[in-house]
Parts: sequence; structure tokens; C-alpha cells
Amino acid sequence: MEKYIARCRKQLKEWGAPLDNWYCVKLIDKEEASFVCELCGCEKVRYVHVMQHDEYFENVYVGCICAGIMEGDLMAAQERDRKMKNRAKRKLNFPNKKWKRARSGGLYVKYHDQFVFINNNGGRYRCCCNHKSAWQYHGKPIDNFLTACYAAFDLADPIEEAME
Ligand SMILES: [Zn+2]
Repeated sequence: MEKYIARCRKQLKEWGAPLDNWYCVKLIDKEEASFVCELCGCEKVRYVHVMQHDEYFENVYVGCICAGIMEGDLMAAQERDRKMKNRAKRKLNFPNKKWKRARSGGLYVKYHDQFVFINNNGGRYRCCCNHKSAWQYHGKPIDNFLTACYAAFDLADPIEEAME
């Protein structure tokens, strides 16, 4: 661990970046462990911690351990990672909810005290929840129920709320 920390700090120094007092401004779920940590080069990051510093010009996208080193609080970073894992589990289970048929023809389910709707219009899916709607997932039109569920989940259970 000491070696690892030393390597991370060396990299930050090379960039001319501050060594501590970074904070996490955003989390991203890559949905597969394929992201390369910008600090240590680990190639198996799924949950990306976006780190910001008031005296540095750009954000740094890192995995859990590097985030902990940068902010000087490994437990805080691990806690964020744990919440992301739990959210990912909820997302995986979301399509298996007991979807009901709405009078309008779409499907809906009650989730965390809110209603989530999925409508299929000639093979094009659209999801709604809390006055928000989505007809794309990762920038592509939604053409199947499973993908519609994942897009709907992002509306109903956003990462920001999962971190509270
Ligand atoms: Zn790293």
C-alpha cells in the first residue's frame, strides 16, 4: 500500500497537481469494469470517482483507492464505492419488478414511492418518472424492454440520490 501511495503521489507531482485536498464531484457507473484509472493505470475500474481540486485546472477520473488517496480519506471513497455497488444491484433487479399494464397500454411499476412508466410505440421505447423522461440510453434509441428498464431506473434511482 505504501508503494502504491508513493506511486500515485509521484504521478500527481509529475502533472504539477496538488497532492491532497481533492474532493469527489461526481460518480460514473461504467457498467463494466473496463475504465482505466487516470492516476494508477488500473484497467478494471467500474465506478469512476471524478476528483476535483480548487487549484487544478481539470478533473481527474480515478478508481476507489486512488480517490481515497487524493482526498486523504480511504473510508469515504470505499463508502461511495459500496453505495454504487448496491445501486448497481438494484438496477440489475429492476427489470424483474412486477410491472403492471396501464390503461394507456404501457407498463408501470411503483418504486421508492414513485411511479415509473415504460411505453412502447411501434418498437421505440420511452420511459417516464417524476416528470423526467428518456427515450435514449447511452445515446442510442431504446429498442427493447430490458434497456428501457435500465433507462427508467436511472430516472427513478439517480446516482446523486444514491449517494445521499
Ligand atoms: Zn487508480
